[in-house]
Amino acid sequence: MSRIASVLIPMPLPEAFDYAEPEGMGLAPGDQVAVPLGPRLIRGVVVEVRDALGGNRPLKPVAERLADPALPPGTVEFIQWAARYAVDAPGQPLAIALRGARAPKPRPMRVLVPTGVPPARPTAARTKVLEAAVAPMSAADLARAAGVSSGVVKGLLDEGALDVREIVAEARFDPPDLGRSGAELNASQAAAAEALKAVVGGFNVTLLDGVTGSGKTEVYLEAAAAALAADPDAQVLILLPEIALTQAVIARVAARFGAQPGEWHSDVAPPARRRVWEAVASGNCRIVVGARSALFLPFRRLKLIVVDEEHDGSFKQEEGFIYHARDLAVVRGRIEDAAVVLASATPSLESLRNAETGRYRWLRLSTRHGTARLPDIELIDLRETPPEAGRWLSPPLVREMAETWARGEQTLLFLNRRGYAPLVLCKACGERMTAPDTDSWLVEHRYTGRLVCHLTGFSMPKPSACPHCGAKDSLVSIGPGVERVEEEARALFPEARIAVFSSDTVFDAREARRLVEAMAAGEFDILVATQAAAKGHNFPKLTLVGVVDADLGLRGGDLRAAERTYQLLAQATGRAGRRDRPGKALLQTYAPEHAVMQALKAQDRDAFVEAEMAERELSGLPPFGRLAAVIASGPDAAQLEAFVQGMASQAPNTPGVEVYGPADAPLGLVRGRRRKRFLVRADRTVDLSAYMAAWRARVRPPGQIRVAIDIDPYSFL
Ligand code: ADP
Repeated sequence: MSRIASVLIPMPLPEAFDYAEPEGMGLAPGDQVAVPLGPRLIRGVVVEVRDALGGNRPLKPVAERLADPALPPGTVEFIQWAARYAVDAPGQPLAIALRGARAPKPRPMRVLVPTGVPPARPTAARTKVLEAAVAPMSAADLARAAGVSSGVVKGLLDEGALDVREIVAEARFDPPDLGRSGAELNASQAAAAEALKAVVGGFNVTLLDGVTGSGKTEVYLEAAAAALAADPDAQVLILLPEIALTQAVIARVAARFGAQPGEWHSDVAPPARRRVWEAVASGNCRIVVGARSALFLPFRRLKLIVVDEEHDGSFKQEEGFIYHARDLAVVRGRIEDAAVVLASATPSLESLRNAETGRYRWLRLSTRHGTARLPDIELIDLRETPPEAGRWLSPPLVREMAETWARGEQTLLFLNRRGYAPLVLCKACGERMTAPDTDSWLVEHRYTGRLVCHLTGFSMPKPSACPHCGAKDSLVSIGPGVERVEEEARALFPEARIAVFSSDTVFDAREARRLVEAMAAGEFDILVATQAAAKGHNFPKLTLVGVVDADLGLRGGDLRAAERTYQLLAQATGRAGRRDRPGKALLQTYAPEHAVMQALKAQDRDAFVEAEMAERELSGLPPFGRLAAVIASGPDAAQLEAFVQGMASQAPNTPGVEVYGPADAPLGLVRGRRRKRFLVRADRTVDLSAYMAAWRARVRPPGQIRVAIDIDPYSFL
């Protein structure tokens, strides 16, 4: 009987398409195939093969089964589950999963191999070349290995004693050396490591909750060692929120296991990506360290997933396929029957709630390793000791920086704002410089002399006259970004070695690694950094952290503002005092009485969490209820308004679900498109994805209008 293959295509299409299986192709779920779609052939993945019952309309046949590795069943199931959860087309997560498969192959290398034809004149030099040529290598390498000139090699090639062959380096990764041992663990680390080792092997979730510097990484590397040792095919995935952090953990994994792990993030070059993808699919690569999209790699036998800094908002992907990698890591763990470890010094309220209710195992490490102590935290009340006009560092912070420098120790100035100034305005007419097609202020960047929209990437040279009123030299920079704080630090400490770490100054993984290593080696006295450098790193000589604007994250005040600010500042201040030298953190604030500042000062996370949980419980917000957002956008305001009004009337009426909106999004205009939002709150017992899917199915947006659904939103803009 003939058979039908359902093929999922990596595009935002609602479902898999059916194709006829050509006689004898022998397709199986997971196979990569080429199928006709309109006039083109396109890559897809078989999700199901079934017998064709008579009477079907004729289907186009699958064009080809590709030689590329098939997606393992767990990967296919995960993709489909993720799409259902996110209320999106399964082709969207599939596109992420195939990113490595579609990357260009590494270029073949031209090597020389002996043909067996004896050379006409077997000189000593020629014999040496033929002896060395037992290992295939390039002409230059061969000449070097044999210690002869390139002319000798060329002579043998011309005579036919050597021949050129093109080979593609096989996607190979050295196996981890499990004979090595890790750091000698202290008593609480050892207890945590034992508890983790006992649970690797099957699905379960553990919250590894330990203060900054307590050795969480050492502990989860022991769990990784146990998983790898228990099963010769086992694979381990370690997820991190920032590329800079992947670099640090890759180095630690390489040191622990004597083998380079697979590296996966947006900055990995396409051929290397392909190499990792294929090695993960073949089972050759047993440890992957990566950013959130590594979760979609085609693991054959995934036995442990670590989500390090699990509270971090960077695990949420906000564009295209909208998902939270921490939440999906738990799903993937369940599908693969793998253990999941969520590690953090400041866990998300969601994970803490799951730990409190016993759904997750809860391991705590409450002290720093060795003699290192947590830093003392002090608040600087900017109302009492403000900086001078046009400055951002207050006298108490400057004093502490001077003392730190005099002791030969390092300072980290933390300000989570890129560029020089967040706002440029005209002092003649008051005009604020905004992006032409987006509701956002243009940020001044002095290094490049440009005004930049951080949302869309739009940029323009800073004009010399106000574009609104034409006044010359009237544009003034308002507020500080890291570049401006660096300028002030240089003026205060002209002899200090100062660097800036933000995504503008550190564009790739190598640069991030270099800067982090230089800081750890004590090559800078002062580092001015955004969150890109304020997380996870160990800088032994760093003893002072100055938070320039501790209130920054509290403005705007969305659901998670307090939680996020607490987490970020606990992380940033946690960089101080890593070794034997005690550390100190100073927080500049206008609201020292705020619960977040008080909790940081008292280092009382539990009290903060308790108060925050109580508030969330009262209003039925996560983790006690569930949220989803709808963002509708379109170029025409009236058409969009009519559409969202219609959409509001279509919302299914379900007990335990409340729909708020439509309302203008705070970012009402992005890239020339107007935006409207709905917010949906549901009781925990409601299947919110199913509710949103049902609602979405009732509306037919006109061609120009896009509807994005965000389950568990982190951004409310
Ligand atoms: P965390 O992940 O909790 O912030 P890390 O695992 O990065 O902590 O440990 C912090 C620092 O202390 C690192 O430099 C690490 O190498 C060191 N460290 C932690 N535990 C030990 C140990 N048992 N022996 C030696 N060094 C340790």
